[in-house]
Amino acid sequence: MSRLLLLLLLVAFALVAWRTLRRGLNPPPDAAPTFEPTARCARCGTHVPRDQLDATGTCARCRAAPG
Ligand SMILES: [Zn+2]
Repeated sequence: MSRLLLLLLLVAFALVAWRTLRRGLNPPPDAAPTFEPTARCARCGTHVPRDQLDATGTCARCRAAPG
């Protein structure tokens, strides 16, 4: 009887291990990559994250180097 219990425990452990390994190899599809919207600097043309441009559409590097 105890051998049957041991066998059942072994099968249950193998099943859990198999499912865990499969989930590790194939991550769930709801983990979609996040994209940051970018925009082009009005002066130098470099694409930077949109929140780094000022109201005139100039990047921080162009603001720091006037001319
Ligand atoms: Zn720029």
